Amino acid sequence: MTRPALTLLLAAPRGFCAGVDRAIQIVEKALEAYGAPVYVRHEIVHNRYVVQSLEAKGAVFVDELDQVPDTAPVVFSAHGVPKAVPAEAARRGLMHLDATCPLVTKVHREAERQSAAGRHMLLIGHAGHPEVIGTMGQLPAGAVSLIETKADAEAFEAVDPANLACITQTTLSVDDTAEILAVLQRRFPAMQVPKREDICYATTNRQQAVKAIAARCDALLVLGAPNSSNSMRLVEVARNAGCELAFLVQRARDIDWSRLEGVTRLGITAGASAPEILVEEVIEAARARYDVTVEEVTVTQESVHFKLPRQLAAMA
Ligand code: SF4
Repeated sequence: MTRPALTLLLAAPRGFCAGVDRAIQIVEKALEAYGAPVYVRHEIVHNRYVVQSLEAKGAVFVDELDQVPDTAPVVFSAHGVPKAVPAEAARRGLMHLDATCPLVTKVHREAERQSAAGRHMLLIGHAGHPEVIGTMGQLPAGAVSLIETKADAEAFEAVDPANLACITQTTLSVDDTAEILAVLQRRFPAMQVPKREDICYATTNRQQAVKAIAARCDALLVLGAPNSSNSMRLVEVARNAGCELAFLVQRARDIDWSRLEGVTRLGITAGASAPEILVEEVIEAARARYDVTVEEVTVTQESVHFKLPRQLAAMA
């Protein structure tokens, strides 16, 4: 029986970013340095495959510090943590390692700098996301207002419109954020904005790569987790860029191939917390059903690399 032809269009860059790579290395090096168990507060990155691989090596994932024994090392996740968390770890004398992505830390420092200059902070982001909780937790309660939508931007009442500054979550839709920012800048022309977008290079590049293939695809799969902000944004970007049939899958085994009937060009990308092995699994699963041709579309090369924390750098 001849198999139907299927062209796989692989978006590049896709998958792991430098911040995720560093966070995983921190847990692995901590396991080497201190032995198991190493505790990790929250999912180190939003991907079950990654979390389960680290659990198999001896990492223990917990929700809060009070689940960490006094004698065990603890790692904070790539999304960043409110200031109260390292303060509590220090109070208890816990050995702690911070895997916060340096690009998230940069936003934290900007928030502190602007707040110290007397400005009220507006944070464009999604309520409840760990990065947003961490960023808001850099400043005292009430010092940061969260803006999630254009409607929020229209409705926000400033006590002192001349003294506002804006920051954003790093993993948002570039296009949606530009629209929200435009509303805020129209309403508050004196508002300070960062010189460069807070949306990180990895989020921006993965969205551009999806835009480059979306209009050529009958369907597009994003490998990633439902709680991964940058992965969810890739699904939206694909739909907005002309590929209506775009959806998120966590593993190849989750794909409902009946949804792809009649598809001859299938786009594939992966969120910044999804390892390449998950893409390879999908390609293999497609080969079992189709006569597959693979075409990679690269919009840019990435060479970003972040150093490990001082405590672990010597082991790298
Ligand atoms: S997605 Fe961006 S901000 Fe988040 S860990 Fe990766 S590089 Fe850092």
